[in-house]
Amino acid sequence: MLNIVLFGPPGAGKGTQSDLIVEKFKLIHISTGDLLRAEISKQTNLGKQAQDIINKGLLMPDSIMIDMIQNKITEHIGCKGFIFDGFPRTTVQAEALDSLLRQNNMEISTMISLEVDTPIIVERILKRGAISGRSDDKNETIILQRISEYNHKTAPVKEFYKKCNKLTEIQGVGTIQEIFSKIEKVCSTFV
Ligand code: ATP
Ligand code: MG
Repeated sequence: MLNIVLFGPPGAGKGTQSDLIVEKFKLIHISTGDLLRAEISKQTNLGKQAQDIINKGLLMPDSIMIDMIQNKITEHIGCKGFIFDGFPRTTVQAEALDSLLRQNNMEISTMISLEVDTPIIVERILKRGAISGRSDDKNETIILQRISEYNHKTAPVKEFYKKCNKLTEIQGVGTIQEIFSKIEKVCSTFV
């Protein structure tokens, strides 16, 4: 099995690279951001809560995100592997993922961390906001709040995988294809 955690700050290109990885390695893509946006567009209770939190640039509660991941994993038991995009975003989530996978005799192959400097991601997100209409991408104050959440709560997740020798850092700057070639090489060592 190939189970990848695709990691990086907001705007690192996780969604873009996930699509290419999924196509090549036939993995199940689990994007917590996409799942939350689907709830928002359906205006469910969860969606209303998510809208509020996302528009403040904050993180959703761990318990909600962990339940969401558990459901998705259970739904796809027996697949070739998973790509986790936007999860785990806290060390509590990382520990939960570890135990969820272990219970099903699976494990993370590696975390691929896309490295991109702050000024570049702010520029990318504002550009995306102008096209996609994502409200959390349009406002620079919200973007800086998301980056601050990332630095405080999410960046430590890298250390979690580093300790288990499961961290691969990749420069997230260059053309989409250049970055994908590097990711592809890393993934190929696990299949
Ligand atoms: P990228 O541009 O790399 O895809 P992103 O910052 O646009 O990253 P998404 O993954 O799309 O972020 O998530 C959007 C928002 O959803 C986050 O800012 C956060 O509020 C919420 N969210 C998504 N995943 C999680 C999670 N695992 N834990 C807590 N909140 C989350
Ligand atoms: Mg995304």
